[in-house]
Amino acid sequence: MSNETVSGDAFENLLREERKFAPSEAFAAAANVHADIYAEADSDRLAFWAKQARTHLTWSKDFTETLDWSDAPFAKWFVGGEVNAAYNALDRHVENGLGDRVAIHFEGEPGDTETITYADLTERVKRAANAFEALGVAKGDRVAVYLPMIPEAVVTMLACARIGAVHSVVFGGFSAEALRSRIDDAEAKLVVTADGTFRRGKPSALKPAVDEALAEDGHTVRHVVVVERNKQEVAWTDGRDLRWSEVMEAASPEHTAVGHDSEHPLFILYTSGTTGKPKGILHTTGGYLAQTAFTHSAVFDLKPETDVYWCTADIGWVTGHSYVTYAPLVNGATQVMYEGTPDSPHQGRWWEIVEKYKVSILYTAPTAIRTMMKWGSDIPAKYNLSSIRVLGSVGEPINPEAWMWYRDVIGGGQAPIVDTWWQTETGAIMVAPLPGVTATKPGSAQVPLPGIAVDVVDEAGQSVPDGHGGFLVIREPWPAMLRTIWGDPERFKDTYWSRFDGMYFAGDGAKKDDDGDIWLLGRVDDVMNVSGHRLSTTEIESALVSHPWVAEAAVVGAADETTGQAVVAFVILRGEADLPTGENAASEIVLTLRNHVGHEIGPIAKPRHILVVPELPKTRSGKIMRRLLKDVAEGRDPGDATTLADPSVMHKIAQDLRK
Ligand code: ATP
Ligand code: MG
Repeated sequence: MSNETVSGDAFENLLREERKFAPSEAFAAAANVHADIYAEADSDRLAFWAKQARTHLTWSKDFTETLDWSDAPFAKWFVGGEVNAAYNALDRHVENGLGDRVAIHFEGEPGDTETITYADLTERVKRAANAFEALGVAKGDRVAVYLPMIPEAVVTMLACARIGAVHSVVFGGFSAEALRSRIDDAEAKLVVTADGTFRRGKPSALKPAVDEALAEDGHTVRHVVVVERNKQEVAWTDGRDLRWSEVMEAASPEHTAVGHDSEHPLFILYTSGTTGKPKGILHTTGGYLAQTAFTHSAVFDLKPETDVYWCTADIGWVTGHSYVTYAPLVNGATQVMYEGTPDSPHQGRWWEIVEKYKVSILYTAPTAIRTMMKWGSDIPAKYNLSSIRVLGSVGEPINPEAWMWYRDVIGGGQAPIVDTWWQTETGAIMVAPLPGVTATKPGSAQVPLPGIAVDVVDEAGQSVPDGHGGFLVIREPWPAMLRTIWGDPERFKDTYWSRFDGMYFAGDGAKKDDDGDIWLLGRVDDVMNVSGHRLSTTEIESALVSHPWVAEAAVVGAADETTGQAVVAFVILRGEADLPTGENAASEIVLTLRNHVGHEIGPIAKPRHILVVPELPKTRSGKIMRRLLKDVAEGRDPGDATTLADPSVMHKIAQDLRK
């Protein structure tokens, strides 16, 4: 079977990419880090991380040991050190005379704005820290955060970190049930929420979900603090519910931060749930802050004095934790925070924001880029995007054509793109180009960061040679690594450390190209086996997106009696595409796209069926849910669709197929 034909590789190496973009000389010369950083990290990995920890953070007490791995896979980083996350993100900048620097340019969906300096933010966090303490929240207690993308979300997280309380942010789009299960799992004492937010110009409630979550007894919550954001009417439980404005007004603006142990828990965050039941990932303080701050500076080439940084991720995802709340503030950056959807009130809203604040570093997800591609290049073309100098991508593999569109249309053909691979579990970026060093390749995350030991291995855990595919693993502990799954150390060992001896494995397939650069190929659970050939969903999707008619594609393997599995593709067409018309247009599109895949990859990869659909099912973090498409492709009723961002999508697809 496949093992003989592909010599143990998890994937065949199919798609070729020849394009390469070296950084300009000027960019390279002015970059925060240079090529020698790899050699420095290689020569002494632990010394390298100790240096980053001391460079990017102010320690209340210096650490005595960089890594204690004696109880592997339970790591301790920067042992004996004490550090306060909020002090590092706030007070020290004010003490250094940067109190007037803008920390957050907040842009509400209805168009209201707020400019928050480091001095303002520090005061707000001090008040919130006092307020939470007054409500009985002590060091080590858990606080559930169920808020929209508003400054109070950052204030709440940092206030928790300041007093050593552990936040558990639950994405505001999740149901009452999901919220309750996370409150129970973490035994949260306090919930911070808002009356509601705005979605596509309309008020959208949040508080009712909290009320519903807490309706049944048996929970641990004593108080609910409610931010008045959209001013909609909400039910009130006297004694339990408190208004944010009143609580903060009553609290003192003075609060002294003390250092917490480097291994003190900072937060719990549940994974997206793309592949199964979400896991409560635990991150601690010192290592997490050191790696997020270092990567934010090195990967985005952040110049805190001049850059305006915007990460579009919601606070409910790990990207919103590491690269909205923590790293940018620890690094003293000025950032944009936007509450709403990209198409409200019009499809140019993001680009209007970039123009308005002169955003210079933009960090977003492939799903957003492909959506913008579908809407058409004429929309961003109406805005002045010349301030942009670095572009980032995270969350899924970015198809080479989406990468090229991002570079040309948003980055003016100039800005380097950093495709960053990482996970909730890794806490910080692990594989990414360095914008002033790496000649970037469309679609590839390319290189493990300095000090990070990522490899691609075969079934037996042997490193694969260049030009081959396999499983992405991490060979050495890293500072921002998860420490455990909350309350379930056995599941932590089973899930991540049992597949390959002594290595971390979290489910992604990858290949090394002929230059040794790393390409992410999708979840190993999604690998297709067609007549003994193991094909990657990502590569076939990228081949489809490389056709000018296609904006987005999702590929699944459907059971097939003769070939084992057959490739079935779902595609969304581009708004501006010059499509065939007339009676046979539909079959002409399908035939053209099938042949295109055959040409790009090879006949084996040609989809058996191609279905043109209006939307694809996605999780709330924007990842395609292939599991549901597989149900459709195999003629079953789609299974549990409750974690979809838009549950009606599956209905639309099913309707379309019946036509
Ligand atoms: P669950 O683990 O519950 O299934 P999830 O893996 O979707 O959820 P996250 O931690 O949010 O939850 O996502 C991490 C995953 O996202 C990675 O394992 C990888 O599959 C994908 N990913 C993230 N960034 C990239 C990238 N730059 N290129 C390719 N894939 C990426
Ligand atoms: Mg995962």
